[in-house]
Amino acid sequence: ATPTAVMVATGVGANNGVLIKGGDALERAQKVRYVIFDKTGTLTQGKATVTTAKVFSGMDRGEFLTLVASAEASSEHPLARAILEYARHFHFLEDPSPTKNTQSQGRVSNVSGWLLDATEFSALPGRGIQCFIEGKRVLVGNRKLLTASGITIPTHVESYLVELEESAQTGILVARDDNLIGVLGVADPLKRESAVVVEGLMKMGVRPVMVTGDNWRTARAVAKEVGIQDVMAEVMPAGKADAVRSFQRDGSIVAMVGDGINDSPALAAADIGMAIGAGTDIAIEAADYVLMRNNLEDVITAIDLSRKTFARIR
Ligand code: ADP
Ligand code: MG
Repeated sequence: ATPTAVMVATGVGANNGVLIKGGDALERAQKVRYVIFDKTGTLTQGKATVTTAKVFSGMDRGEFLTLVASAEASSEHPLARAILEYARHFHFLEDPSPTKNTQSQGRVSNVSGWLLDATEFSALPGRGIQCFIEGKRVLVGNRKLLTASGITIPTHVESYLVELEESAQTGILVARDDNLIGVLGVADPLKRESAVVVEGLMKMGVRPVMVTGDNWRTARAVAKEVGIQDVMAEVMPAGKADAVRSFQRDGSIVAMVGDGINDSPALAAADIGMAIGAGTDIAIEAADYVLMRNNLEDVITAIDLSRKTFARIR
């Protein structure tokens, strides 16, 4: 392709909300063999919603939700936001008086502080969070988080988790002072176009793959819904880049599509890093392509554009 053709293609991309950082990135996309998708916020909407809260300990429901929300208040994770929203709504419905909550523009927000003080907050990437509330250690996260702290998961809790995960939900465990006190179920629906894009890629001879920090059972359920056969789950943030490299090993050209801070090493490691425009700045910086419309169809647009620009007459 001539420099002019590359310039034209870059312009066409930009007009369609596909920002391409350089001619090399544009050229590489035609040869892509695997497209690795992050799950949360990339294949899914990233708008997690709490569907159920089960208290196992005989503890009051409101008290339980206050505790979990207080623990998550310092977390930036989409799961944390979902939990806070759920707890706020619960408290608002329990007591709509403005001393506890106010409702502005249809959203309930904490004003006068029904949240408890949490100290020594720490986020454990790929696992969850830990903090202290009223002198007691509170853990909110997945199995790994609890078992690493020596907390065993009783069989009735485990079967409840399995039930949630088989319906593509994420189960979040809550423990206080080494006692498992409850479980939250969180759902994050697929983006409308995800399945169509997966199918489209396969028709183009490109293999879609899903990688996630979430647990295997949820990952498999989501992958099945979207039509992806190759799944890697329970991948720690640093492991996503290794996953990319494992697909590159035989010389294959690999694209990575992601939105989170977690994804930026993988976006950088990939031959073609594609960041969702609505994603975090760090991901956008690490990527070669930015999909400004936040629509996964643009993964296909990008590959198509490269193929058309660099097509040779044989
Ligand atoms: P993904 O790769 O799907 O974006 P992450 O690596 O961010 O996932 O998180 C993996 C898992 O760690 C989550 O599915 C959840 O079980 C747990 N986790 C992470 N952060 C939190 C949090 N703030 N609260 C509860 N659980 C969390
Ligand atoms: Mg993500």
